[in-house]
Amino acid sequence: MPPIGGMLPGPVPPGRLGAVASGNDGTSGEPRGTPRADAAADRCHDLVHLSPVGILVSRDGRIELANRAAVELFGATSETELVGRSPYELFHPDYHDLIRDRTSRLLAGDRYAPHMEQRIVGRDGRVRVADVSASAFDDADGRAIQIVLVDVTDRVRAEEALRRFELITSEIRDVVLLVRRDDGRVMEANAAALRAYGYTRDELLALRIGELRAPETLPLTDGQMAAADAGGILFETVHRRRDGSTFPVEVSSRGALVDGVRMLVSVVRDISDRQQAEDALRRSQGELQATIEGLAEGLITSTADGQLLHWNRAALEMHGFSSVDELRRRLPEFQQIYTLSTLDGRELTLDEWPLSRLLRGEPVRNHELVLRRKADGWARVFSYGGTLVRSSGGRPMAIVTVTDVTERRRAVAQLAAERDRLAVTLRSIGDAVVATDAASRITEFNGVAEALTGWSAADAVGQPVHDVFRILHEETGEPAPSPIDRALREGVVVGLANHTALVTRGGTLLPIADSAAPIRGADGRITGVVLVFRDQTEERAAAQALRASEARLKLLAEALPQLVWTADAQGKLDYFNRRWREYTGQLPGEEDWEPALHPDDRDRVGALWRAALAGHGEFEVEHRLRGTAGEFRWFLRRAYPLRDPEGGVQRWFGTCTDIHDLKVSHEALRRTDRLKEDFLSIASHEFRTPLTALRLQTDLLRDGLRKTFGPHERTERQIAVLDRQIARLDRLVAVLLDVSRISEGKLRLELAETDLAEVVREVVDRLSPEALQAGSEVRVSVAPVVGLWDRARLDQVVTNLLSNALKYGQGRPVDVSVEARDGRAALVVQDRGIGIPLESHAWIFERFQRAANARPVKGLGLGLWIARTMVQAHGGEIRVESAPGEGATFTVSLPRNAAARPLG
Ligand code: ADP
Repeated sequence: MPPIGGMLPGPVPPGRLGAVASGNDGTSGEPRGTPRADAAADRCHDLVHLSPVGILVSRDGRIELANRAAVELFGATSETELVGRSPYELFHPDYHDLIRDRTSRLLAGDRYAPHMEQRIVGRDGRVRVADVSASAFDDADGRAIQIVLVDVTDRVRAEEALRRFELITSEIRDVVLLVRRDDGRVMEANAAALRAYGYTRDELLALRIGELRAPETLPLTDGQMAAADAGGILFETVHRRRDGSTFPVEVSSRGALVDGVRMLVSVVRDISDRQQAEDALRRSQGELQATIEGLAEGLITSTADGQLLHWNRAALEMHGFSSVDELRRRLPEFQQIYTLSTLDGRELTLDEWPLSRLLRGEPVRNHELVLRRKADGWARVFSYGGTLVRSSGGRPMAIVTVTDVTERRRAVAQLAAERDRLAVTLRSIGDAVVATDAASRITEFNGVAEALTGWSAADAVGQPVHDVFRILHEETGEPAPSPIDRALREGVVVGLANHTALVTRGGTLLPIADSAAPIRGADGRITGVVLVFRDQTEERAAAQALRASEARLKLLAEALPQLVWTADAQGKLDYFNRRWREYTGQLPGEEDWEPALHPDDRDRVGALWRAALAGHGEFEVEHRLRGTAGEFRWFLRRAYPLRDPEGGVQRWFGTCTDIHDLKVSHEALRRTDRLKEDFLSIASHEFRTPLTALRLQTDLLRDGLRKTFGPHERTERQIAVLDRQIARLDRLVAVLLDVSRISEGKLRLELAETDLAEVVREVVDRLSPEALQAGSEVRVSVAPVVGLWDRARLDQVVTNLLSNALKYGQGRPVDVSVEARDGRAALVVQDRGIGIPLESHAWIFERFQRAANARPVKGLGLGLWIARTMVQAHGGEIRVESAPGEGATFTVSLPRNAAARPLG
């Protein structure tokens, strides 16, 4: 490799060098000292000394000659500083081995040592780099070495700088672009640029800067380039990749003159991440802000000295401020507007306010206070909390949280009231109530529970419920399964269990009915059980009594002479008494209606029974049943439904009463009645003819006697008796005729305007002889009442009532009155005679019926029946008020117009 000579002893005289410089091989043979030669040597000397290239001549290991450029290169001030020195002193020790090697080669015969760069440490301490070459030459003094040095320090530095730049630009993450100022052409780009934009190097170097920018940023390009060129610029923009996607960048750009061309050196940093981070930060700050603003809790921040920094929306609203501005305006008067007091009403001094306490370093947690507006008494309960923190800037600050707990407080109060009410209810309800927690420990124990178990609530509460509520199966005496366990385990309501006995604290057994229901918390979990039980002693006694009475009833039913049966709600026959079996001959377990019923009655009875079942009504029917001997007898079958409290039929109770004999005698009676009617009808008609003849003959007899004998008092009296008896007979026959007409349905009314008062006066008049005979005064009080009636029939009604009053009136006064009452005519006949027993009231209006106390007085028992029939034919009513010995009052009420109503 490199050059430079060996150890050349002694300095080289300047004259010698001329030959070196000119001839370079020293073979010119030109003699020294000649004028031409001297001139040439001088020129050569000047040339060497003025050459910008450093030249050293070394001989025998010493510098013999150093030109000016070499002197400068080695940081010396004159040639003398170098001449005589060893070349090793001039070169950097790193190169000494090389120099030694090159020198020995040149001395050994090599003519030339090629270029090499060497570092030189100058006398002035500066390090420089020189391109060194060497050659050997021989002259009269022997072999010397000539060293040529070109200062390449600047170039090497530039190259190094470039390499460093390349290294940096290729390794760094940032994009480095060199862009031509005038047209924006990309002149150079580092590896990061290729990665960032996705172009190959060649592609990239064919682009203009505009093609690397997002279209929307292009309008700014010119201005930014100008600013970069003018003095440098740092700006953010958006660049575009080869695939069209864009990314945000921060560009630092500066103008520079490179090879005489204005360039812009731009360092481009992808700030997607940063921007994302910034966006995220902004977002999260926004979210935080929104969260704070959206909190239902009030949040108030203040500086350590109590300067309020921020109130969130909830805090503003809770304190009755509509905006931060209003808060600012009115905060100083806050204390004038509001008071803060404890829940029991003590007003706080400013010192005691939560913020004041917080700023003093006292903890504030769940501090419930009442904020009250002085003006109108508006008040809320707030729960204050707070903490002292350091802001991100390191400033201490206080955060006060405010929660509106008014509703919660109210709910708590309500709950307490509810609890009280519940407790009162528990104490007052008739059932024993025991509540437990999830671990089956008693939490509530009411008074009835105390009474039934014998435990006091004080003792029982807190105890495991099974220690207090011990139950046995009443019949077996075995421990009964606890409804509490099942309710807890399965979460179901466990209903009343039968035959359970409670073992009281005193050890006695008490029949109870119990039930248990799980208590569930708001989350649906079972938090306990409510057990309800009650003393069943009475109910069981009642059930016992019921069973006993059922047994008695059955006994009774067995003893009854009637045939007794029962059926369920659906009509299924489930019981027949002994009599039934005796009569029908059916065996126990085989009893049934069907086989015993007369075939002609089956359909009728079946239909009626089905109707009774469907309509749940009573059931009554007459039918025949076959006895053991095969004979049929008539029975009255009755059934009554036993109803539950809601009115539904539970059971049917039925009897069959033997009415055979009754029915048969009724039949006979009806036949007799019919015969009587037939007889009456015939008799009344048959009586009429001889009666008419009798009356006629009496009249003729009277007239004949008068003519023949003149007036004769005794005879006249006798004939008068005859007349009266005929009239009486006539009336009797008329009655009989009416009866038969009515019975045959032949009664016809002949309606005409009739004054009832007039009818009454006529009848009273007519019956005056009877009244006289009876000794009763007839007092008449009538007002005209006109109606559309059958006069003769009304006459009959009045006659019958009045003659009864005279007959049974015991000679006491009789009152007859007529008046208009409620648009109808009212006729009242009142006597003061024997009266009528109450039990007879119902049937004295029937045919041939007479009260027992009327026996001594003769009568047919038809008068009232006819009267009622006539009154009813007019659409009226008749009724009696009477008691034995107190007389009787008959009242007839008639509508004014009998025609309005059909005849009955
Ligand atoms: P009788 O011909 O028996 O009077 P009525 O039909 O007129 O028949 O009366 C029926 C029965 O009513 C009488 O037998 C008598 O028992 C009772 N009765 C009717 N009117 C009176 C009265 N004014 N006072 C007492 N009993 C009377």
